[in-house]
Amino acid sequence: MFKNKEEFKFEFSRRIIESYGRTVEEAHITERFLVLETMVRDYASVNWATSKAIIRNNYQKQMHYFSMEFLMGRLLVNNMMNLGIYQIAKDGLEEYGINIHDLEELETDAGLGNGGLGRLAACFMDSLASLAYPGHGHTIRYEYGLFKQKIENGYQIELPDQWMQTGFNWEVRKPKHRVPVKFFGKIIFNETTGKYEHVDAEEVYAVPYDVPIVGNDTTNTNTLRLWSAEASDNIPANQDFRQYIQNVRDICQMLYPDDSTPAGKMLRLKQEYFFTCAGLNSIVRAHLRQYPNLNNFHQKNVIQLNDTHPVLAIPELMRILIDEQGYEWEEAWDITTQTFAYTNHTILAEALETWPISLMQSLLPRVYEIIEEIHRRFIGYVKMASDRDEELLNRVMILRDGTVYMARLAIVGSFSVNGVAKLHSDILAERELKDFAQLYPSKFNNKTNGITHRRWLAYCNPELSSLISEYIGDEWIKHPERLEDLMGHLDDLTLQDRFLAVKKERKQILADYIKEHNGITVDVDSIFDIQVKRLHAYKRQLLNILHVIDLYLRMKENPDFRIEPRTFIFGAKAASGYYFAKKVIKLINSVGDVVNNDSETNKYLKVVFLENYGVTLAEKIMPAADVSEQISTAGKEASGTGNMKFMMNGAITLGTLDGANVEIAELVGEENCVIFGMKDHEVKELQMSGAYKAWDYYNNNPRLKRIIDSLMDGTFHENREEFRVIFEELMNKNDEYFVLADYEAYCQAQSSVRDLYKDRSRWAKVCLTNIAKSGFFSSDRTIQQYVDDIWHLDKVKF
Ligand SMILES: *Cc1c(COP(=O)(O)O)cnc(C)c1O
Repeated sequence: MFKNKEEFKFEFSRRIIESYGRTVEEAHITERFLVLETMVRDYASVNWATSKAIIRNNYQKQMHYFSMEFLMGRLLVNNMMNLGIYQIAKDGLEEYGINIHDLEELETDAGLGNGGLGRLAACFMDSLASLAYPGHGHTIRYEYGLFKQKIENGYQIELPDQWMQTGFNWEVRKPKHRVPVKFFGKIIFNETTGKYEHVDAEEVYAVPYDVPIVGNDTTNTNTLRLWSAEASDNIPANQDFRQYIQNVRDICQMLYPDDSTPAGKMLRLKQEYFFTCAGLNSIVRAHLRQYPNLNNFHQKNVIQLNDTHPVLAIPELMRILIDEQGYEWEEAWDITTQTFAYTNHTILAEALETWPISLMQSLLPRVYEIIEEIHRRFIGYVKMASDRDEELLNRVMILRDGTVYMARLAIVGSFSVNGVAKLHSDILAERELKDFAQLYPSKFNNKTNGITHRRWLAYCNPELSSLISEYIGDEWIKHPERLEDLMGHLDDLTLQDRFLAVKKERKQILADYIKEHNGITVDVDSIFDIQVKRLHAYKRQLLNILHVIDLYLRMKENPDFRIEPRTFIFGAKAASGYYFAKKVIKLINSVGDVVNNDSETNKYLKVVFLENYGVTLAEKIMPAADVSEQISTAGKEASGTGNMKFMMNGAITLGTLDGANVEIAELVGEENCVIFGMKDHEVKELQMSGAYKAWDYYNNNPRLKRIIDSLMDGTFHENREEFRVIFEELMNKNDEYFVLADYEAYCQAQSSVRDLYKDRSRWAKVCLTNIAKSGFFSSDRTIQQYVDDIWHLDKVKF
């Protein structure tokens, strides 16, 4: 492999000629890009082979992260940086007159996820590899990622995300490792063999595509395995083969564009079992290549279930152990419950996954029988442990009223159950999953989420990274907690000035992007106040835009009232069937149209909606933010990770005490963030008491009344019914997420942000403090905690 610029150039040129029959000078930019990408992949492959051999030879325990989503984003720069070959490639290409950034822009995001949950999985992959732990991912190779969002006339339009159009060059197809997966059919007991058999099934092959996961400054290279469905020879006798092929294609066609409610579709359940079954069977086979049986399966493998989507792995492992390997139930159960660990991601009751028994029974007959038996034995245990507490029994049953409760199955079948931020884990143990926490106190634990500081600071914000390194050296890249050393330089006026200059430089880059994509000119000296995340009622983008409306109306009504210049930036995809969320997008855009074009006020106030929010766009946004909007209704956001990315890039959190905001606030102290609004227990109490009346806020607060009326009086849309749904949600459905209850507190918080911003030195200190304290939120810390408390892995030694 190339070790310097000269070798790189030679290799690059040779490959261009061999692949395309042209010289570097003649080659098309796409060809140059594809060659660079395959060169990096091949570079990584050498390490990959070494890593696999060492893990095998040392009989090491491995972790397998099962997740329905991996929101990887682009890989080229990340991999080159982690391999330490970025500069070599950049310099080499430059000598051919090629700007590496032009090639970088040709890569499409691997957007195999909806949002936070999928991005977490991707950050974990980076930290696992970088810390040299053997940890791999399993998911579906979706043909289409999350939809591509276009904004037309202010409305969201969804287009297919054809992320593999120019090929996905990081993957390697492994047809030999294919696994049969069976759906439907029936179960018969074979008297002669004494085994259960699954007959008349619709069988498909799951074929793996492996992607190397490159760590930073290590030979260690892990695997992300993407499973794809292909036709098998065993199809039911009565099935038309064209129908069969269509069924096979459907499985990996697309990612469900909804991260908060079970899609309630058979196909989704099929997807879940498909990759879970394939992943598990491939792990079992690999185990049996090294060991005579599965007695020590749990000592050599641990499987982390990212939310409940892969929970069918639990009955599937039972099935393998009992039906295929001849284990008795008790032994099988011991092995299984020592293999799985489950991460809970939500407290929204409507987002807890359930399935109709009838559906599961017909799609997965054997797996369902096993779930029934797990349920039966669990009920026996609860009866015994609780002295036949019937009420408790009803609250914890895995099967009840024709429904399978996936989270309950997950808890019963795992040895560890974790939440993703302190507050979230406390709410689970003390409230939402209290019964289970009492039945199994030792299972429950917390693992506060993290983000990879490499992608989210070192690589996406090189300007800030080099400034940091100038002051404290570059050890923070290996040891992110060392960012804390910045605390010793807070009062350094030169550092403060230079930080502000870097921030402005990054705001300019975003401003240029906004100009190009939205045609809006924004002032880089204005406060960049940013809310980017999936659109959901509980995340309360509505609260943000109502405040913008307020500022606008006040300036219109009172020529003496002027604000510190502000640019409110939004980015959010709404699930395609989520009508309310789409109306909020339309409202943001409609307000933007009016506000941005009003010459009386647009020196002070601009509103920008960036379309198609995703990982690559986020990498441009985070470095440019002054204010990070994290304003969910307290108790609703499990953790949030966007909040951590903003913080690490020196933005100040304007947020409620929800999810990881609580820990951000604890770390930086109340003078370095702006916290407002009801606390989790206050929300809960208000909800329970039934005392909340949205109309009272409307009637008693003339400003609020004025704002809400503007939704329906033609101020922002000629059709006065346009935003009726939002009005109804707030007023007649009594404002489920307490937008109005928190409104005044939010306005005050916003005005304290403005006061803070005016004192530039003080502002810089606040931002630097946030950066200094952000090391805790590196996913390296999170992964180390998973390793210490749950996975118990050894590093791969080279
Ligand atoms: C980090 C990230 C998220 C999660 O954001 P939250 O604010 O925590 O909801 C969602 N989407 C993308 C593209 C991200 O990078």
